[in-house]
Amino acid sequence: MYPAIFLDRDGVIIENRADYVRAWQDVEIFQRALQALAIPALRRFRVVMVTNQPAVGKGMISRDEADEINRRLVEIIRGAGGEIDGVYLCPHTPADACNCRKPRPGLLLQAAAELNLDLSASLMVGDALTDVQAGRTAGVRQSVLVLTGRGSDQLRLPQAAETPNLPVFADLYEALTAWLAG
Ligand SMILES: [Mg+2]
Repeated sequence: MYPAIFLDRDGVIIENRADYVRAWQDVEIFQRALQALAIPALRRFRVVMVTNQPAVGKGMISRDEADEINRRLVEIIRGAGGEIDGVYLCPHTPADACNCRKPRPGLLLQAAAELNLDLSASLMVGDALTDVQAGRTAGVRQSVLVLTGRGSDQLRLPQAAETPNLPVFADLYEALTAWLAG
């Protein structure tokens, strides 16, 4: 089994958009996230993107278009020296009551089964409390919040008090450096 690093996409690797990433021109890649994903020590882990894309379920973007955006993003990450070993996308809206939309753990559990991942040795990085909850419910070793994207706003939510012992990092680079050092 492989230890994994699970990454939310919007707000962690690329800028979050309040009205969703609907086309490639909406994608603003964090250059420091590209640097983070190129850290050589990361190669000991499977790196897996886990992303809610309710714009698909709402019909604002097709599943194919969403997949194509992720394909291009992964290509750029690879070009910068990083790797993404899997992309798992929830296309549903909250009304669908699926098991894959974070804070539910379905995307992480599916990835673990398909990629032979050891959740108890894995990390989840997100910019939302729902990412942290998904990681905790899935049973990953550590779930952390980054302050990019929605991160700093999330800390002001009442629910933040219900997520005790939450490690917080400035961005993906800081989160991964700390994890690799620990
Ligand atoms: Mg996010």
